[in-house]
Amino acid sequence: MLYAQVVLPLAQPMYSFSLDESLAVEVGDAVVVQFGSSRFYTGIVWSISTQRPDYPRLKPILSKLYSRPLLTPQGQRLWEWIAEYYLSTLGEVMRLALPSLAKPSATSLAELDERSIEPPVEQFIALSKELQTEEAIAAYREKNVRRAPRRVETIERIAALAFERSADDGFVPRRLVDVDTQHLAALRSKGLIRTEQRLRESLAGSGAQQFLLPTLSSAQSEALQQIRDGHASDKVALLHGVTGSGKTEIYIHLIADHLAKGEDVMVLVPEIVITSQLIERLERIFEGRTTTYHSRLTPLRRGRTFLRLAASTGGELIVGVRSTIFLPMRRPGLVIVDEEHDMGYKQSDFQPRYNARDCAVVMSRIYGAKVVLGSATPSLESYMNAISGKYHYVELKERWGSGVLPEIVVSDTIRAVKRGERRTHFNFDLLRNIERSLEGGEQVILFQNRRGYAPYLQCKTCGYSPRCPHCNVTLTQHKSSSRMECHYCGYAVENSLICPNCQTQDMATMGFGTEKVEEEVSRLYPEARVLRLDGDTSTSESAFRRIVSSFEQREADILVGTQIVSKGFDFEGVSTVGILNADNLLSAPDFRAAERAFQLMMQVSGRAGRHNDRGRVVIQTSQPKHPVIQYVTSGDYHAMARTELAERKAFGYPPYSRIIRFMMRCSDYELLRRVAHVLAQTLRTKFGQRVMGPVSSALEMLRGEHRAEIILKIEAGASMRRARELIGESLAAVRSDKSFNKVTISVDVDAS
Ligand code: ADP
Ligand code: ZN
Repeated sequence: MLYAQVVLPLAQPMYSFSLDESLAVEVGDAVVVQFGSSRFYTGIVWSISTQRPDYPRLKPILSKLYSRPLLTPQGQRLWEWIAEYYLSTLGEVMRLALPSLAKPSATSLAELDERSIEPPVEQFIALSKELQTEEAIAAYREKNVRRAPRRVETIERIAALAFERSADDGFVPRRLVDVDTQHLAALRSKGLIRTEQRLRESLAGSGAQQFLLPTLSSAQSEALQQIRDGHASDKVALLHGVTGSGKTEIYIHLIADHLAKGEDVMVLVPEIVITSQLIERLERIFEGRTTTYHSRLTPLRRGRTFLRLAASTGGELIVGVRSTIFLPMRRPGLVIVDEEHDMGYKQSDFQPRYNARDCAVVMSRIYGAKVVLGSATPSLESYMNAISGKYHYVELKERWGSGVLPEIVVSDTIRAVKRGERRTHFNFDLLRNIERSLEGGEQVILFQNRRGYAPYLQCKTCGYSPRCPHCNVTLTQHKSSSRMECHYCGYAVENSLICPNCQTQDMATMGFGTEKVEEEVSRLYPEARVLRLDGDTSTSESAFRRIVSSFEQREADILVGTQIVSKGFDFEGVSTVGILNADNLLSAPDFRAAERAFQLMMQVSGRAGRHNDRGRVVIQTSQPKHPVIQYVTSGDYHAMARTELAERKAFGYPPYSRIIRFMMRCSDYELLRRVAHVLAQTLRTKFGQRVMGPVSSALEMLRGEHRAEIILKIEAGASMRRARELIGESLAAVRSDKSFNKVTISVDVDAS
C-alpha cells in the first residue's frame, strides 16, 4: 500500500490518504477523494510514500481525474513559495490557481463525474500503412493523378505536413488539411488514411515558423540587444521605455526568439479590457497562436485552456492577467510583465494576496526562464533592484518615429482664483487648450482621480495638507469624530480651521469627482460630445468597450475619466490632456502617494499627441512648486526616484522594508476592538516598535462590519522566515481564544 499527501481546496495545509498502486497515481496528479461524510473533492497529490502516516482512519484515493498531471514539480515549488511568502496555505493557493471546472467538487461521485470536463481533443489524420514511403506515394500519384487529382493532392499535402512537423507517427491535425469532410470520408473508406481523436495541441503547432516582425529603430534594436545581454547573464531585464517608445515591438522580437526554439512565452498585462490593444497587436504577428486567460472567459473555456496547456509540449504564447501565472507551462522560456508598476498585479481581496509580478520573477527562477519587466514609470522596487545591479536595466528614452513627448503646462489654481481666471473647476490655461483642440477637430482627455472615499483637508491659501509627523502620509478627515487621523499609526488631531502652515483660517475639505467634471464641461461646451469612463459607467466589459471604441472612432470629442484613462490607450486624435486636480494625487493618504502621482501623471500625459502633432498636458495644482510636479514637467523619472527613495529610507518604507497588514472585521464593534488590541499587543511583544496600530480602517464600516487594521513594518534584510514564524505564533495565540472566533483576521504581505 502507498500513502499520499493531498492538497484540497480548503484553507488547510494537507491531508493524508491511502493510495492503491493500481491507480497509477503520480505526484502532481488530480485525484478524487471523499472528505467528511458527504463531500467529494478534487485534490492534488503532493507527495507519495510507503510510510503509513500516523493517522488512524485513512480514506482511500478514489480515482485519478486526468491522464496527465496538472502540476509539474516546478509548479509545486511555485505554490509552496506563494503559500509561504503570503502567509497562506497550499489549499488556498489551489483554490485560486486551478479553474473551477478543472477541480470539480460535489456531494456524490455521479455528480462529480457530471461536472468534470475533459481536455479538448481534435481529429488527427495520417496516411495509411501502405503510403508510408516516398516511393509508395510516388507510385500512387503515377497511377491516380489523371483519374483522381484531388485525392493525390490531399495525400501529398498530408505527407508534406507530417514531414514539416516531423511527426514521427505521421499524424497531423485535421484543421491543417484544408478539404471538406466528405472528401476525407471518401479517402478513409478507401483505406488511404487513418483518423484519430487526440489532445488538441497549440493552435499553430510546433516546428519552425516564420513571423513577420516589425523593423526596429536603432534605439529599439539597441534596447533589444541589451535585454538579450542581460538574459545571457541570467538577469531579469527592466525595460524602462517612455510612453510610445515601442516596448511592444521589442517584446514581439523577444517572443519570436523563444517561440522559434519551441519554448513557451507568457505575457502578463495588468487588466484585460485595457490591454486588449496589446493582445490584438500580438495576435496580428503570432496569428492563431495566442491563448488568452482571464476571469471574463467562460468557466468551460478556462478549464479547457488549463487542461490543454497541462498536456502541451511547448511553443505556447499565453497572454493574460495576474492569474495567468498559474497556467501550466511545459517549456517555459520567457515571461514578460507589461506595465510592471501597475497595482492591478496585486490581488488584495482574499488569500493568497499575491503580486503576480513578483511571483513571475520567482517562477522564472524556478523554471530557469527569462524575464522582462516593462514600464514607462517603473516601480521603485524594480528600480532599486536595477540600480543595485540585481536586475539588468535597459532604458529607451525616445518615442518611436516622429513622435515627440507632449508639452507640459503647470497651471496654478490658487493664482487662477486670485486673478479671476478660473471657471468652476477649470483654469483658463486648460480652457484655452481645450478650445484649441476642439476647434482643430482634435480630442481632449480630462483626468480626475477620485481615488479614496474620505476627502482630505487643504489650505486654500497656501495649499498645505496636514500630515502625520510619524508616518509622512496625509491625515484623513473623519466625519464622525471631527478629527484628522493617520491611516497608518492612529495619530490624531482635532480638525482645525486654521492652517498650521500659514495660520490663515482657510482650511477646506477637498475633492470632487468625474461626474461633476462631465457636467461642467458639457455646460461650458454644449456643442462638444462628452463621454465618461470610470467605475460607474463601465460596469461591464461591453459598456467599457463601447465607450473606448466610440472615443477611438472620434464619435466623441472629450473623454472624462478616472485612472482608467491613463492605461496604455493609443488614441490617435488626442491633443490635449487635462489633469484637473493634481493635489488629490499628491495628498493621497498613502506612503506611495508621490510615486503613484508621478506614475499617473506620466501615464495620462502619455496619451497626448501620440501621433505626429505635438500634444499638450495641462496640470492644475495649487502646489506648482511641488517636487513631483517638477519631475513630471521635466519628465525626470530618475530625479523622482532618487528623492522618493531617500524619503522611503528615512521613514523605513518599502523598498527598505516590507509592509504586512493585518485586517480584522466583525459586526460586533467591542469584540473587534478587543481582538485588535490583543493581536497588536501580542505582535508588539515579538516585534516591538515595528508594530503600528490598531487603527480603524479607512473604510471603517463596510457591509455592516466594522474594520480595523494593524501594520507591521519589517526592515529589508531582516529574516522573513523568522518574521513569518513569529506572526504565525501571534495569530495562533489570538485564534486559540474561542471567544474571538467571530472576528475574521486576514493578512496582506507587501500591502500598500
Ligand atoms: P509603448 O508601449 O512603449 O507606449 P507602443 O509599443 O504602443 O509604445 O508604440 C507606440 C506606437 O508606435 C504604436 O502605434 C506602434 O505601433 C508604433 N511603433 C513603435 N515602434 C514601431 C516600429 N518599430 N515599427 C512600426 N511601428 C512602431
Ligand atoms: Zn502616523
